[in-house]
Amino acid sequence: MWTRRQVLAQIGLAAAAVHTLDPHELCCVMPAHAQTASRDLFELKKVGDGVYAAIAEPRYKVNCNAAVIMTNDGVVVVDSHSKPSAARSLYNEIQSMTKQPIRKIVNTHFHWDHWQGNEVYTNANPGVEVVASERTKENLTRPDAGVGGVPYIEKQLAALPGEIAKLKGDIQKETDPAKKANLESNLRQAEEYQKELQSMKPALPTRTVATTTTLHEGGREIQLHVLGRAHTNGDLFIFMPKEKVVATGDALIDWMPFMNDGYPAEWPETLTTLGKLGFDHIIPGHGEVRPKSHLAFFRGYFVDLIAAVKKASADGATLDEMKTKVGDQLAAKYEAGFSKYPLGRYRDRVGTNVEAVYLKVVKKA
Ligand SMILES: [Zn+2]
Ligand SMILES: [Zn+2]
Repeated sequence: MWTRRQVLAQIGLAAAAVHTLDPHELCCVMPAHAQTASRDLFELKKVGDGVYAAIAEPRYKVNCNAAVIMTNDGVVVVDSHSKPSAARSLYNEIQSMTKQPIRKIVNTHFHWDHWQGNEVYTNANPGVEVVASERTKENLTRPDAGVGGVPYIEKQLAALPGEIAKLKGDIQKETDPAKKANLESNLRQAEEYQKELQSMKPALPTRTVATTTTLHEGGREIQLHVLGRAHTNGDLFIFMPKEKVVATGDALIDWMPFMNDGYPAEWPETLTTLGKLGFDHIIPGHGEVRPKSHLAFFRGYFVDLIAAVKKASADGATLDEMKTKVGDQLAAKYEAGFSKYPLGRYRDRVGTNVEAVYLKVVKKA
């Protein structure tokens, strides 16, 4: 097992060269006012026979959902949350259900909140395979890949002292007892997260998927599909044809999409291809388990957003005008459906989505 610094040295990234990131650039950062009192990290929900979704509770440092697939001779886990402590909590829960070992960890993409807990499973289960797409494996060590990977651990560590200092300052200024308690909880979580990052030993993919692979795991068929670019250039979809369940990572979520490392022009087509698979239930990267019909809603947002930004741009609107205008224009159709949780709500993200579509689709054309 490599240490973080060994991996960094190997890919030629000097820690000193890492620039400080604005904490707002972190994917899916919890708004400071949001509820963090829950002691539970996730709720395990049965989706099919022996197939569970670990639905993440809101935390200051967000966790992704995980999928847990039981087989006759072991367990497959899809995604590992944002930190070892969260993965350990799910691992303990899995062990209370079965004494079988974990056979495989599948990472849907390279973002920090989906893979940073991998080491818990690899340390406890010799021989466990870490499976990802080829692109995701590359992204996990590429310095400029976006909000995830080994280099991004250094970027987060560089940003955390400033983030912690800001939280301390906010606590001093806050007079409302409930808000103060919430900020204090956020501060504790930020400090714990910093410690976890400092001792992290990244467990990187040991097996990659180029297009489609079918795993026959202890009597279960698990298909892994690379269907095109969407949330990242390496999104992997985990499909179980018999159970009619798909785990989608962040390419299909029950929050507003995060597009900064994504490909909005290609995203709808990738979702169309996904829709051809015979599933009834979606385990999304964030939010609750959804029926297949959610795909059309989520896909429609991209189609409508791209059309609206193109039109506003052709009408001569500035980027700031577009953000307001397009945000208001699409609100009737999308605001309620995309604002069901304290995180990733419509108004939190529509502005950056407009900007992403403008830069990546309209301006490029
Ligand atoms: Zn995520
Ligand atoms: Zn993501």
